[in-house]
Amino acid sequence: MRVVVAMMKHETNTFSPVPTPWARFEAWSAVFGDEVIRAYEPTNMTLAAYIRLCRQEGAEIVAPIAAEAMPSGPVAADAYERMSGAILEAVAGGCDAIMLDLHGAMVAENTPDGEGTLLERIRALAPSTPICVTCDLHCNLTQAMVDNCDALIGYKTYPHTDMFEVGSTVGRILFGKLKGELDPVMAWGRVPLLSQTLRQGTDDEPFRSLIATTREAEAGGEVLAATVFGGFALADIHDAGISCVTIADGDRAAAEAVVDRLKGEIWNHRDDHLYRHRPLADAVAEARRLADAPGEGPVILLDHADNTGSGGTQDVMTVVAEVLRQGLEDVAVGGIWDPQAVQQMMSAGVGATVTLQLGGRTDMPSIGVDGEPLTLTGTVRLLSDGEWVVRGPMYHGLRVSMGPTAVLDTGAMQIVVISRHHEPWDLGVFTSVGIDPRHKRFVLLKSRIHYRAGFAPIAKQTVTLDGIGVTTSDNHLLRYENVRRPIYPLDQINAPVDD
Ligand SMILES: [Zn+2]
Repeated sequence: MRVVVAMMKHETNTFSPVPTPWARFEAWSAVFGDEVIRAYEPTNMTLAAYIRLCRQEGAEIVAPIAAEAMPSGPVAADAYERMSGAILEAVAGGCDAIMLDLHGAMVAENTPDGEGTLLERIRALAPSTPICVTCDLHCNLTQAMVDNCDALIGYKTYPHTDMFEVGSTVGRILFGKLKGELDPVMAWGRVPLLSQTLRQGTDDEPFRSLIATTREAEAGGEVLAATVFGGFALADIHDAGISCVTIADGDRAAAEAVVDRLKGEIWNHRDDHLYRHRPLADAVAEARRLADAPGEGPVILLDHADNTGSGGTQDVMTVVAEVLRQGLEDVAVGGIWDPQAVQQMMSAGVGATVTLQLGGRTDMPSIGVDGEPLTLTGTVRLLSDGEWVVRGPMYHGLRVSMGPTAVLDTGAMQIVVISRHHEPWDLGVFTSVGIDPRHKRFVLLKSRIHYRAGFAPIAKQTVTLDGIGVTTSDNHLLRYENVRRPIYPLDQINAPVDD
């Protein structure tokens, strides 16, 4: 048996000014052929689960590509064609099954539905070859995706720490179908709601209950797999928003019943999917009070409107400036994207005192804001190539690179300045450059929920700070033109609606 195993992932923020050429995939992960297996088998990611299942089943693995880039603007057409082309070529070479690790929210210059278009092309080439797909919790599910595969599943965790588990589940369903032991049938549905990322942590409501409902449906044997996708509201495409999908064993009515239950639960709690704002200065003042209260560990300061992991430019200085203005001390900042500042610090050398224009390199036309740097004076504390291996629960085992990296020490702040966008979800962002975040008073992160994977265990408290950026949770700042209407909360919808 020959099985094509491949990964093609990008979460596209159509409001992000950060371009997504092929080089951005190379900067995070783009490997081909046997290198796919070498790079991903030692991880806890979906591909590792697929590879293990194929080995257990004695199947030959054909791994054309594993490519992922940090979230950013629409994927360049040539990058999209390169990735999908590699997968299509492997399928054309002949195979008995296809196992894909996709994101679900990829928008390319030449298609608003990167995954749906890929799956349509695969089906056209190999109409009867079984296909299983794993998607991210932030997938914007489409009819084309569901129609062109046999089993589709998503993560149940945010931060995403169950990639291996969901890959194993959907992979077992696929092999069950290949052996004639299972007859997977899918149902899916959605309600017109743009659920906000900041409200999708699976340890909190409303997602904790939604995930519990999916697990009950699985444990009770109603369905083989049930998924709620929070969706990715920062993609201005027709199909953006929350959805759910189920896989039952031959019983379409059962699959649909669970979908209907989930839709009702989502709609009844729709207001819980919306983030409530508060002034930045108030939140920083609260952080200072929390740091003074008894307890161990740092107070985490979340600069969520400039979250790299959702397409943020990672160089907006609003929150850093307010933290300095209020005189907070012993703050570690991870990280600020500014390759030019890194080069300046590398030229100056370790121990040198430098005055820099830090950050603010990127304009954000979608929200009408120009980049604004912050002038800072400090000591160059450390220089690094920015490479390290993730040891926390998310992406465990993967070698990552922040690019050339420098630590600027202003006295009150130690700032990790990086040359490649990198969301801080693992302590390695700091420990790889000699900073122990456990012993800081404050840790300021350009993150939203994923930081919890590495930092929740060491945090005394977390304070959410409303800065500026293209990952804002303030819908009024974003001009939606393509998402289907009406949709809540852009439009007031009073009666329960089928979408
Ligand atoms: Zn995600």
